[in-house]
Amino acid sequence: MSLDHRLPEELEELRRTVEAFAHDVVAPKIGEYYEQHAFPYEIVQEMGRMGLFGLPFPEEYGGMGGDYLALGIALEELARVDSSVAITLEAGVSLGAMPLYRFGTEEQKREWLPKLCSGEMLGAFGLTEPDGGSDAGATRTTAVRDGEEWVINGSKCFITNSGTDITGLVTVTAVTGRKADGSPEISSIIVPSGTPGFTVAAPYSKVGWNASDTRELSFSDVRVPAGNLLGEEGRGYAQFLRILDEGRIAIAALATGLAQGCVDESVRYAKERHAFGKPIGANQAIQFKLADMEMRAHTARLAWRDAASRLVHGEPFKKEAALAKLYSSEIAVDNAREATQIHGGYGFMNEYPVARMWRDAKILEIGEGTSEVQRMLIARELGF
Ligand SMILES: Cc1cc2nc3c(=O)[nH]c(=O)nc-3n(C[C@H](O)[C@H](O)[C@H](O)COP(=O)(O)OP(=O)(O)OC[C@H]3O[C@@H](n4cnc5c(N)ncnc54)[C@H](O)[C@@H]3O)c2cc1C
Repeated sequence: MSLDHRLPEELEELRRTVEAFAHDVVAPKIGEYYEQHAFPYEIVQEMGRMGLFGLPFPEEYGGMGGDYLALGIALEELARVDSSVAITLEAGVSLGAMPLYRFGTEEQKREWLPKLCSGEMLGAFGLTEPDGGSDAGATRTTAVRDGEEWVINGSKCFITNSGTDITGLVTVTAVTGRKADGSPEISSIIVPSGTPGFTVAAPYSKVGWNASDTRELSFSDVRVPAGNLLGEEGRGYAQFLRILDEGRIAIAALATGLAQGCVDESVRYAKERHAFGKPIGANQAIQFKLADMEMRAHTARLAWRDAASRLVHGEPFKKEAALAKLYSSEIAVDNAREATQIHGGYGFMNEYPVARMWRDAKILEIGEGTSEVQRMLIARELGF
């Protein structure tokens, strides 16, 4: 038996399509959106038309019938050019639509998934709260059953895709009771945008991902139908652990793309920029930086594809997803730092894509589980 490193033809075709889209459509426009901290509706609409938001979902729900490998391929190619559009897709699919697909009733899937898959609507996932993200079990938001409704109170912070003009819902985790040992019982509940008492704050001013939407949410006696419960009552903790395990593969693919984008931009620049009468790339010191950057991006790609392949084949993938997320996010930061260095002063100018990559890299070590949390998960898998 042999290990085949090549992508199947349909995935290679998807990769080429998204690569061309990122180059031809995203690259020329995204800098302006980023500078203005504006959400790129036009680009997102086009991504929807291409079917990217439906990539890992079955056709019967409006999806493309692909899987997490397909999603990862698309995310990597987008992030080679820009991370704001990539995280909009990642959060829209992995956090917005996937919980509904994995845990929703048939009715919930039929109601929401076609719109989420077409990109005409975005979904969000509200787990993190102002008092804590890593310790997600310490959720304070509550949902109390009152007749045929849930009444939700609390707040969530840093929620991606939660306040755009096309956001249709946020799935929130909330304490719905106590177990026999007194620990909180957490459930996931779908809150449609515009529900009275559900307030979406203005977008945060962020260091990076400036063309993506991130907001704080508050819930004051928000009433939603009892049928908006996602899956079984009390299963919210297990649900979001699964969603985050999968999401880590997507973030790893995105981080790999950013790391590769740093190589692309830096190789080009090192050949063009002259110092001391020759291209800076003629210096071995620069070549070695580029070789190390390429090595890191390549290794990160193998790691996320390995985790995605395990997921797709129904094998355990928790450790591999954590390894891929940890490694790719840390090397994305390394590559972004080196790319900026190779660009010299121009690397500090926002008009250069590597400046954007530098600003966008850091959050990859924080979102969907910090590097410390990934190390905790890996150590746990090692028996600690
Ligand atoms: C731009 C952006 C988008 C985001 N999008 C979403 C979203 O869509 N949905 C959502 O729910 N959340 C989202 N988040 C939240 C993100 O997942 C959290 O910020 C992240 O999980 C960390 O949580 P925290 O910020 O509360 O940090 P904390 O949990 O307070 O951690 C602070 C520091 O302490 C460390 N730490 C904590 N516990 C331990 C420990 N036991 N051992 C060692 N170190 C520890 C952490 O690693 C970190 O370095 C987003 C965040 C940002 C910035």
